[in-house]
Parts: sequence; structure tokens; C-alpha cells
Amino acid sequence: MSLKEKGCIQVYTGNGKGKTTAALGMGLRATGHGYRVLMIQFMKGWKTYGELNAVKNLPGFEIIQAGLPNFVCKDGPKPEDKAQALIGLEKARQAIMQNQYDLIILDEINVALDYGLVPLDAVLELIQNKPEHMELVLTGRYAPPEIIAAADLVTEMTLHKHPYYQGVPAREGIEY
Ligand code: ATP
Ligand code: MG
Repeated sequence: MSLKEKGCIQVYTGNGKGKTTAALGMGLRATGHGYRVLMIQFMKGWKTYGELNAVKNLPGFEIIQAGLPNFVCKDGPKPEDKAQALIGLEKARQAIMQNQYDLIILDEINVALDYGLVPLDAVLELIQNKPEHMELVLTGRYAPPEIIAAADLVTEMTLHKHPYYQGVPAREGIEY
């Protein structure tokens, strides 16, 4: 089965909270219609994310991590950070070209692009050649203008307030 209607390219970017969770929510919705969903998490290797456990109970929803369990430094990403991101990109390429999923979420790929971990041309080529009935979602701050131009739907989460700035660290079940 594939999407009944033509699929779009969506981008969730901006500095406010809600990009990854919006994509997860849409993944949840899609599985309810029997669609197959894949999320590839770029730059994330920590196993603490609740969604990794949650999808074990959701047939048709898979999450793959393509990152190390550490923060990537923008000024000097480690060769391993880049290698992980390129592995993620290759997995994305295979999943898109083999048309195995109806909704594919490339989580934080905009950040991976901004940090120079993956080449912009490769991502553009990949998304522009997606199967017609597949939906693609690219999340992460700092979406490059070329990605925004290539998308059909772009939502920018605007930061008005975040408890982080009141000194509240990331909370289990809410931020991870
Ligand atoms: P979420 O995963 O909660 O939907 P997000 O994907 O929009 O958030 P990211 O930019 O990926 O947020 O941020 C990574 C982590 O930082 C997440 O745990 C997120 O909840 C948290 N976060 C989001 N916005 C901010 C902010 N303005 N300041 C600090 N931390 C933030
Ligand atoms: Mg995110």
C-alpha cells in the first residue's frame, strides 16, 4: 500500500520546540491508516528518547538512529559524527529509492546540513527524486534556503518561551 494521494515534502524548522514531536505525531497518525513509517534520527545516538520504546508497540513505525551518544560540536564535528550522518543518508537513500515506506522522516537533517555533516546536493537530489506517493519530512533548526525552496510545506516553530531559559533542564517524557 502507498499513500492514496500524491506525497509532499515537508520541513519543520525554527528555534521553538515541537519539530521532532510534530513529525512523530504525524507518524502516529499515518500508522493508524496502515501506512509504513520510518524515522531516521540524524545526530542522535542516545537511547533515552521515549519514542524509541514507544514505536516498539506500533507496528509499521520504525526508528533508526544515525549518530553518536554525544553533542556534535558545530565548529569541529568529529569524523565519527560525519561518518554516522553519511550512514544515515545512505539508509535514507535506500529507503526512499526502494519505496519501502509511505512516510519517511529525516529528523534533524537540517542541522546535519548546517553543520556540514551531509552534502546539500545529495539531500536535494534524494528528496527531488522521491516516489510520487511518499511523504517526506525534514526536521531541524537552520533549514537551508535550498531545502525550503524544494519543499511543498514549510512550518517554522517560533521561539517565544522555553523553560530551558528559566534553568529547567530537558525533562523525561517531554523533551526526550
Ligand atoms: P521536540 O523534540 O521536543 O519536538 P524540537 O525537535 O523542536 O523539540 P530541537 O531543536 O530538535 O527541538 O531541540 C532538541 C532538544 O532541545 C529537544 O529536547 C527539545 O525539546 C529541546 N528544545 C527545543 N527548543 C528549545 C529551545 N528553544 N531551547 C532549548 N531547548 C530546546
Ligand atoms: Mg528535534
